[in-house]
Amino acid sequence: MKPDLFEAPDYYNIDDLLTEEHKLIRDAARSWVKRDVSPIIEEAAQEAKFPKSIIPGLAEIGAFGPYIPEQYGGAGLDQISYGLIMQEIERGDSGVRSTASVQSSLVMYPIWKYGNEEQRNKYLPKLASGEWMGSFGLTEPDHGSNPGGMVTNFKDKGDHYLLNGAKMWISNSPFCDVAVVWAKNEEGRIHGLIVERGMEGFTTPETHNKWSLRASATGELIFQDVKVPKENLLPNKSGLGAPLGCLDSARYGIAWGVIGAAMDCYDTALRYSKERIQFGKPIGQFQLQQKKLAEMITEITKAQLLCLRLGQLKNENKATSAQISMAKRNNVDMALKIARDARQMLGGMGISGEYSIMRHMMNLESVVTYEGTHDIHLLITGLDVTGLNAFK
Ligand SMILES: Cc1cc2nc3c(=O)[nH]c(=O)nc-3n(C[C@H](O)[C@H](O)[C@H](O)COP(=O)(O)OP(=O)(O)OC[C@H]3O[C@@H](n4cnc5c(N)ncnc54)[C@H](O)[C@@H]3O)c2cc1C
Repeated sequence: MKPDLFEAPDYYNIDDLLTEEHKLIRDAARSWVKRDVSPIIEEAAQEAKFPKSIIPGLAEIGAFGPYIPEQYGGAGLDQISYGLIMQEIERGDSGVRSTASVQSSLVMYPIWKYGNEEQRNKYLPKLASGEWMGSFGLTEPDHGSNPGGMVTNFKDKGDHYLLNGAKMWISNSPFCDVAVVWAKNEEGRIHGLIVERGMEGFTTPETHNKWSLRASATGELIFQDVKVPKENLLPNKSGLGAPLGCLDSARYGIAWGVIGAAMDCYDTALRYSKERIQFGKPIGQFQLQQKKLAEMITEITKAQLLCLRLGQLKNENKATSAQISMAKRNNVDMALKIARDARQMLGGMGISGEYSIMRHMMNLESVVTYEGTHDIHLLITGLDVTGLNAFK
């Protein structure tokens, strides 16, 4: 792969709206990605292997639980810092950002918000340091966009719960130490359970043959009469709103993260357009290529402003789920379109692993699907503005 020459675009001087702390945190993550992710990520993606060697580095830049209080090992940062860290990591690779998102928003967040003090103290510090890695089991083979239909269930057996069912498309599953699993009790109410590797009847087979997020490990979570201790049930929230609360936090991180992927594609295409000569001119001098670049930087700038405002609302606890949906949908679509245009601008080189664009493009095909598909987020916005529910 080519050396990482990335220079972040900031067309509207958005840096002026960030605090010194935001910029320090962002720049630390940016340097780490350049030093520790860029040199290894293409090979990891080609080999379809999650590069476990980067786990301590992710912990060091605060990517595991950026907004979790320091007393539990988190970084205790605000929501804009969280977003900026996700942006920088996804600039390197969406798969690496997925690992961090799952750990922070889908594993640490529910333990912090819905767990009790013993659970927080037992799990959060180890998850923040990367000593333990987590996964989040919501999606099932027959229930993706409609997780409320899940069939994974647990029964009260007196001194323990008996868990049965299967989850699929689970990021981090093949190597996770703990899984936050959503299952129905005998009354059909959804609860979160913390399942630990080593519990009898719990297996995590890997899913192979992915063309997307190849540097992220994906798999199943299978439960066959797993005895889960009663103290592993998350006591403070139940119902579908519990997993959806986690998804709000993760979707917010995605809205920022994909700006990173888009910036990397834009920056690569811009540099290439000045160096590549055809018909005696740099291709960047042709109007058709300028149109692509001009539209890319416009869309990136709009996405940056959208996220910054959403981050301010999140910091004030005012961001609604529907506002987060809009940002996730808009920004992923923006990044995917930029990746496709940038890939074309590199001609044949655009499909080569020498450059990051094709990897970003393939990764974003998962990002546009997980955590609520593009269509589902449109329906959420539609419901929010009309008050009419298209899901029913
Ligand atoms: C790489 C990867 C990693 C993932 N990681 C995780 C994870 O860590 N944990 C986890 O729980 N899940 C994870 N997922 C699962 C992901 O969240 C689901 O794939 C996603 O929610 C969509 O579900 P589905 O694949 O079953 O698609 P479906 O729900 O079957 O949807 C198929 C199509 O139908 C459309 N559709 C569905 N319902 C409607 C409707 N009412 N109106 C209009 N259109 C509709 C969808 O938009 C989509 O285009 C991951 C997925 C991938 C690909």
